[in-house]
Amino acid sequence: MSKRVTKNMQDEISAIKTFAVFIAIIAVIICIYFVIIKNIEPIEDKTVDIAGYSLSFDSDVYDIEIGQREKLDINFVSGNIVDTSLLYSSSDESVVSVDNNGYIDALSIGQAVIKAANAEGKLSAEITVVVHNTGELSSAMTTTTTAVTTAPVQTTTTVTTTTPIVIDWEVEVESIALSKSEISLDIWEIEMPMVTMLPSTAKDKSERWSSSDESIAVVDAYGNIRGVAPGQCVITVTSVNNPNLSASVNVIVSSSSLVEGVTFIDGIMVVNKSYPLPVDYVPQSTNDYGLDDMCYSAYLDMKSDAQDDGISLYISSAYRSYSTQSSLYSNYVANRGQQAADTFSARAGYSEHQSGLAIDVNEVSDAFIGTPEAIWLAEHAHEYGFIIRYPEGKSDITGYKYEPWHIRYVGIETATHLYENELTIEEYLGIDSVYAE
Ligand SMILES: [Zn+2]
Repeated sequence: MSKRVTKNMQDEISAIKTFAVFIAIIAVIICIYFVIIKNIEPIEDKTVDIAGYSLSFDSDVYDIEIGQREKLDINFVSGNIVDTSLLYSSSDESVVSVDNNGYIDALSIGQAVIKAANAEGKLSAEITVVVHNTGELSSAMTTTTTAVTTAPVQTTTTVTTTTPIVIDWEVEVESIALSKSEISLDIWEIEMPMVTMLPSTAKDKSERWSSSDESIAVVDAYGNIRGVAPGQCVITVTSVNNPNLSASVNVIVSSSSLVEGVTFIDGIMVVNKSYPLPVDYVPQSTNDYGLDDMCYSAYLDMKSDAQDDGISLYISSAYRSYSTQSSLYSNYVANRGQQAADTFSARAGYSEHQSGLAIDVNEVSDAFIGTPEAIWLAEHAHEYGFIIRYPEGKSDITGYKYEPWHIRYVGIETATHLYENELTIEEYLGIDSVYAE
């Protein structure tokens, strides 16, 4: 009996020992987990953060004279961040405004904090921009430089603090002139005359442009004049500061060297299933996308304003050459058959993308339908001269299924007319879009 008891007690003690050892091992494992894994993980993350990404301005403070436009230098190490676009904002838009390319405009005396953040919001950097009166900055900077070489500490501080800020609104524009009195253009050709406003110290040298007949030639805010249809008209530039001052250029638009084989109807270049472009047609372009320059600058304006509304637009497809379109279409035919391919892809020569006036923005698929970007685009594209080229319910007229991402540049006036009257180019011009065979 006692033996059995002892045996039982020994068993119990041994069981307790085994249990204790088991607990100890678990405890050690938990400790190892917390000490090693838990501690190392954040350190590794932090290292990746520091080494992989960083965003900073070159300095903490930036001095600028009133009326100046300059680009802020920013250092962005993007690591493996996919969307490298930056969003800029100003603490006081009435003092310093900033666009999404980092260009600042010094609008009034004072200071504002400009903040840059990457699109995902992970990184941000700030810089204080101080707007000085005209001439004040250069004299302050010269004095500072002299002070540094002679007596470093004492004089530097007095310069910046004692200079009174006086706004000299007296310097007005006194004359305005254009480099040309006459310009000859072909339809769709662009030319920009140079403007000289005097005195050079005038505060507000901004320009306002207008055309006496927009059916003959149009002009944008920068003075790019484009021929629309044969005829003659007058383009005028006016000083915003002094609207009594203006200068004009006589514009003659001829149809003599119209690109052979390109169809213009009422000044609109038509490219659809009935009206192809010649094999060798290439748009006038100086941008990386091969887009018509006016179309591209209108797109940039739109993208920037969209960004202000929290809408991010990007180019998925812009200019496509005849040969690119040819292989694209052949691929679709091989995979989906010609009948299906013809509803969403153009045959070579029949694509609007060859005109340099069409852009596919964001996602080129039905997933784009109904997104905030698609809705914004449908509501605002016309304000920048674009139309949704292949709207919903009009595929019998346009020849293509609904494509909310495909926008076509036609100019603000035409785009607004088409938008307000819910018209396609085909309906507006009374034409069809059908392949001949
Ligand atoms: Zn397209």
